[in-house]
Amino acid sequence: MLDVSVNAQILNLMSGLKQRYDLAYLFITHDVATTKYICDWIAVMYLGEIVEKGPFEEVTRAPGHPYTIALLSAIPMPDPKLKLKPMATEGEIPSSINPPGGCRFHPRCPYREAVCEKEHPTLTKYSDNHYVACFRADEMRREAGKFLEYLQLRKG
Ligand code: SF4
Repeated sequence: MLDVSVNAQILNLMSGLKQRYDLAYLFITHDVATTKYICDWIAVMYLGEIVEKGPFEEVTRAPGHPYTIALLSAIPMPDPKLKLKPMATEGEIPSSINPPGGCRFHPRCPYREAVCEKEHPTLTKYSDNHYVACFRADEMRREAGKFLEYLQLRKG
């Protein structure tokens, strides 16, 4: 883990090189907040599978997968007046060697239904260029609003 200031310097360097040489990066991180500085597109992975992908602005403004919502809602916001809490997931992370059947996220998902334990959701078009693997993706826009209304990951 890098010091915050060193982290920022490296992201600035990468961003500058990207523009100067018209580069493309595959940027893999657990620090979702940093994607704002470097990513035009996002793919969210859970237990080795992509569960959501699309343009940065679209995925962070209207996420359709509960795991994406949980990741985004866990980004610390430096404002003591904010009262919203991160979306809670349940249980422990299962083994990636022996992942759960059905939706791999179902043992931890607060929105799971019976179908989630039996069937495996595939990436499905959610909006232009935005794909989500969740049986309840359409309901997640409303749910995301409960956790993310303060989130400002817009590129500036
Ligand atoms: S398919 Fe079901 S268990 Fe999987 S993320 Fe969606 S609601 Fe949760």
